[in-house]
Parts: sequence; C-alpha cells; structure tokens
Amino acid sequence: MNNEIQLLSDHIANQIAAGEVIQRPASAVKEMLENAIDAHATEIQLIIKDAGKELIQVIDNGCGMSVTDARMSFERHATSKIRHIEDLFKIRTMGFRGEALASIAAVAKVEMKTRRHDSDMGTRICIEATSVLLQEPCAMVPGTNLMIKNLFYNIPARRHFLKSNTTELRHIWDEFSRVALANPQVSFRFRNNGEEQKYLEAGNLKTRIVGLLGNNYEKNMVPVEEETALLRIRGFIGKPESATKTRGMQFFFINNRFIRSPYLNHAITTAFEGLIAKESFPFYVLMLETDPAKVDVNVHPTKQEVKFDDDRLMYTYLSAAVKHALARYNIAPSLDFTLNPQITQLPAVNFPLTEQQTRQTEKGYLYNTFSQKNQAHIIDPKNSVQHWKELYAITQKPADVVTPVSEGAALHPEAAASATTQGHSLLIQDSLLITTVKSGLMLINIRRAQERICYDRLAQQQGTVAAQKLLFPVTCELPPADAVLLQEILPELQQSGFDMSGFGQHTFVIQAVPAGLPAGEERSVLDEMLDQLKHTAALDTSLRTEKLRKRLAKRMAGHITGMTTPEQQQLLIDELFSCTMPEYAPDGKKIFTLISKEALEDML
Ligand code: ADP
Ligand code: MG
Repeated sequence: MNNEIQLLSDHIANQIAAGEVIQRPASAVKEMLENAIDAHATEIQLIIKDAGKELIQVIDNGCGMSVTDARMSFERHATSKIRHIEDLFKIRTMGFRGEALASIAAVAKVEMKTRRHDSDMGTRICIEATSVLLQEPCAMVPGTNLMIKNLFYNIPARRHFLKSNTTELRHIWDEFSRVALANPQVSFRFRNNGEEQKYLEAGNLKTRIVGLLGNNYEKNMVPVEEETALLRIRGFIGKPESATKTRGMQFFFINNRFIRSPYLNHAITTAFEGLIAKESFPFYVLMLETDPAKVDVNVHPTKQEVKFDDDRLMYTYLSAAVKHALARYNIAPSLDFTLNPQITQLPAVNFPLTEQQTRQTEKGYLYNTFSQKNQAHIIDPKNSVQHWKELYAITQKPADVVTPVSEGAALHPEAAASATTQGHSLLIQDSLLITTVKSGLMLINIRRAQERICYDRLAQQQGTVAAQKLLFPVTCELPPADAVLLQEILPELQQSGFDMSGFGQHTFVIQAVPAGLPAGEERSVLDEMLDQLKHTAALDTSLRTEKLRKRLAKRMAGHITGMTTPEQQQLLIDELFSCTMPEYAPDGKKIFTLISKEALEDML
C-alpha cells in the first residue's frame, strides 16, 4: 500500500497561514504598523498605492534588525517577542505570533531594508513567494523600510475578491486610525498615490483625536480618567449631543490594543442612557489598562476579541467611569448611589489590596464606589414625575384653532364638503391634525405628512433641486475614512442641491444647500448621510440618492412651523393628497388613519 501523507512545503504552509492573518491590504497595514510600534519607532510613514493593492510601504525609525534577524523575520514562528510560553500571558506588545511577515512574504513581493542603530550598514532583502531572491548590504538611516508589492499576485482568487479601492482604502484608514490613536506619542505620515493624506505630530491623546478626526471633536468631548488598584481607564467620550446614527467613531483599547467587544460597548452606551436618542451611538476613545495576565487577547490573531478573568467587574467599572465623567462635566443630571448587591459581591471588589495600593487609590472616586458596601451608580431620572405632570397639563391653543369637536362636523359627517378633506380641523399638541371627513374622523400625523410632501417635491425636481446659496460657506473637516466616502457620493449630493467641493485632504466647503434645509444644519445632515451610507457603501447610486432624499425630507419637515391657521392646515391636507403615496411617509410609517362614524359611536 502506498503512503499518502506528505509534509506541506513551507510555502504552502505560509500561504495557509496568510489566509488567516492577511485578508486584505488593511491587514498587512495593521501588522506592519504594529511591528513598527513594537520596534519603538517614534516616526512612522505609511505609503500606499492603489488602495494598497499595488504597494504598501511602512518606514520606521525603530530599532531595526541585524543581518541574521532580517532573514529570520520572514520565517514562520520567528519572533523576538516570545521566549517562553509564560510570555504569552504577560505580553504587552501587539504582535506575538511570529506569523505576519512570513504570511506576507508568501502572498506578495517583498523588499525590506533594515538597519540597527549600532551598525553602520543596513541589509536589503528581496523575497517573492517565500523565496529569498537577494540579500545584500545597503546604505540607509537606522530603522526599517518594508515594501509590499502586488499583494496576492500569486493567488488570483484572493486578489479578485478584493473590494473596490474606496472600500479597501476605508479599511486601511480604520487600521491606521486605531494604531495612531493608541500611540499619540508617535508621529505618523500617510501618503496615498503620491499625495500626503495626513500628517500627525507626536502629542497627547487629545491632540491626536483632533488631528486625526477633525477640529470639531475638540469642543465635543470630555475626558475620562479613573484609576483603581486593578484597572486604569483614560480617554475621551463625546458629549451626548454629538452622538451619531451609526457606531463608526467608537474606539476601545485594552493595554494599547484595539478591541471589539459588544459586551463592553454596551457598558459604555448604558452610561449614556437617557442622554442620547435610542438609535444613536456616542463617540468614544477609551484606553483601559490592566494586568495583562488578566486579559487573554490571543484568542484569534485578527478578530480583536478578548476574554477577561472577570467580565462583570470590567463592565461595571467602565460604565461607572463614563457616568462619572458625564456627571463631572455637568452633562448627566446627577449621580445617585443606591444598593447594587451584585457588584459588592464580585470577587474582584473584595480583592485584598496591599497597604501601598490602598493608599494610592483610596482617594479615587471609583475605588470608593467599588470597595465600600452597597454602592453602585445609577443615574436616577428624578424628573420622571415632572414628565407626567406635563402630560396631563392642558395646553393653551391659539383661539382660532380651538374648535370643540362636538360642535364641529364630527357629529354631522354629511356636512363635510368632500369625501376626504375640507372638514373642520383641529390640531392636538402641534403633532396631530384631526379633521372631519364624510365617513368619520381622519387623524393625520403632521410631521409625517410634511415629510411625504417634502420628499415628493425633492423627487419631482430630480437632479435640479433648487439650491440656496449660503451667506457664509461652511467648512467641514472629516475623519479620513468619511472623507473618502464623501468624495464618492459628491455627485449625488450635487444632484440633490448641495454645492460643495473638496478643499485640502479631508476638508470640504459647502457653498449651497438644498432650498428648504434650515440654516446651521449643513454639517449635521452631511454627517447623518455619511453615517447612513457607511455600512451600505455598495448601494448603487439610485438607492443612495433615495436615502439622501429621505434624510433631507426628514430634516426639512422637522423645521416647518406655523400650522396654526385653518388655511395652513387645509393646505397641508391638500398637498398631502396630491402626493404619490399620501398614506405612508417615506420611511414607511403610516401618515393618517380613519375612524369611522360607527366606531366613534361605539366608543360611547
Ligand atoms: P511578531 O510581530 O509576532 O513577532 P512578525 O512576523 O510580525 O511577528 O515579525 C517577526 C519579527 O520581525 C518580530 O518579532 C521582530 O523581531 C522583527 N520585526 C518585524 N518588523 C520589524 C520592524 N519594523 N522593526 C524591527 N523589527 C521588526
Ligand atoms: Mg508582528
């Protein structure tokens, strides 16, 4: 019988590993940037061409490698970061599997130049599909210069499945942003297709956030800063009013490593409960530091998942820290301390502290809340009683609108002039219009009716939406990944009445907006649009235009005032019923309902 089992060649083994570690240009960017950070670089340059498909290059001024290390670094399981298995548990650096460079070398053409600070010469090494083609001495400044060309050139199926340049570029921006935020002490430069996209000076976290994401973040965020013997958290959270409709701008790091954790994200958002709308997401950049032995980040090389010894402690701690920050900056109404036995029973809370640790942290707000009995945070909605009062209060209406229903045509439906409209109308709390019709009563949701009317108007104008010139053009600086997207949807925006153009790398100037859009809302409409499209960038243009139109209609409708006179009410009804689909708002919600005379009579 023949033997069938063979050892995989290094090249095949590396290609398989690459499938896990390097999925797209952005994964290579991440690995290379992290290696540069691990090498203690203080200046890092990222250069890409064709969204990383043609070239990804990272130049750093870190420690560099010796001649032997330069060669070794491309071997699988070659790492300078792990010597013993215990190292895995206390590792603070980011790369730790010794697989990245080997994987990259299996699926791309690689050229690396590297020089240690204590040697006079550097080493240049060229590798293609795991084979070393050349290694020679070279002259260069200390540090490492790694170039990856034609990623997946030898795996056409993978290369074929790369997404559009816009999508791949956005992924690269995401990775770049994470590494740049986690390392504000390092300066970064990012060039794409020969143009400088971003230069970030070394600084602190605040200057880094503003430098990376835009000036408007400066006034919209408050610091978070807490320390206990076990955990330290610092960073910034957005003020509630800056919350957006999708969860784009949320960054959470544990021991300087970007982490995705729905569980901990929940902890943070809970702290905002009652302060932001249900479907919106607060901005945050939070850095949690803890004993690395208590976190297992090595669950999967790229999935960015974590496991903790004590999840619930982490959850409570995070939520408390965010609430504290909100309260300290007078954003949350008040903090209340009420019993939460679950927390006081957590083993970690009763962790014996050394005398020195106790002294160090006993003044801390969070230490107190965790270590004293029966204390946890909740924000008490004290004003709930107030809400009920308001609900029952009788509001005064302008005299010409208060037409008691009993005297109106409601009891005499035949008196109504037409089948649908032209009855007597009454407005309830500015939100509901009640009008009499032949067969009974019609209840109209005013806001939705206005949305429908605005939407139809925008749709009719198709491509020729009237624009209104702004007195003062508005300049918007956007986070880089958003700018890429905006550039792509610029034509649709123009069709919808926005007159705007790029101005520098990530800045746009709005000259005109669709007529009817309230002043001062240019930027927020744009942000909303981008938020909406972020997860649906693959939509075709007509679907995007549709989305944009819906958004605009909502905004415009939100600002229509003066529905007080019977004429205005009648106009609304007339306009609504000349729309294409008077029954439903653009988002599909019902605009009006009919209550038949019989149903009304049955009520009594
Ligand atoms: P890991 O980072 O998990 O150790 P990599 O494959 O990413 O594995 O890198 C292998 C080794 O190559 C690293 O452990 C490090 O010693 C060296 N190395 C990689 N990139 C650099 C760099 N930019 N500067 C200095 N050394 C580097
Ligand atoms: Mg690495």
